[in-house]
Amino acid sequence: MSDRKKGLFVKVLLTVAVVAAAGAAVWFKDELRPVWVLAQQTVEPLGQHLMTPSLWPNWVAYLVCIPSALAVLFLGWRYLQYRKSSGRLFKELTYLGSVWRWNSPADLPKALKPYCPNCNALLVYEELGGRFGSQSQSVALHCETCQTIPTEQPGTWKYLQARTAREIERLIRTGEWRQHVPDH
Ligand SMILES: [Zn+2]
Repeated sequence: MSDRKKGLFVKVLLTVAVVAAAGAAVWFKDELRPVWVLAQQTVEPLGQHLMTPSLWPNWVAYLVCIPSALAVLFLGWRYLQYRKSSGRLFKELTYLGSVWRWNSPADLPKALKPYCPNCNALLVYEELGGRFGSQSQSVALHCETCQTIPTEQPGTWKYLQARTAREIERLIRTGEWRQHVPDH
């Protein structure tokens, strides 16, 4: 299911849930009245309690506030470290003569797209030979702008995509991806 379809499905589900809850509330309104009264009796004193200033000494306030602030700073730092160390910044690789781009490693190899190293145009693939058994099969990536073939490799287009995906997966696994991301 695509993200858009998923979003629509969740919206429809939420709407149905809200309508069902409203319907049930109207249907059972007499039965629900004591619950509402009980809720009011509980919530109002709780609100008053939360709004009342406390008479604690300042050291208690420091004791509570300083570790909280440190925890927030620590979590922020950990998040930045995670962003740096995970392969999320690695979305481009020059491999076998072409520049390969993808959005998320989870979508590989299908999401892989080859671009021209000279003009950055999206390359067009052409599968050659192999149809009659005797010829060996190969795939060529053409740049329509430069009229060049930056990549020509044995196998099919699918094989070339899978091969590139394997290389990307290897770079992520070994940590070598850092060498392919500037400022890392
Ligand atoms: Zn080009």
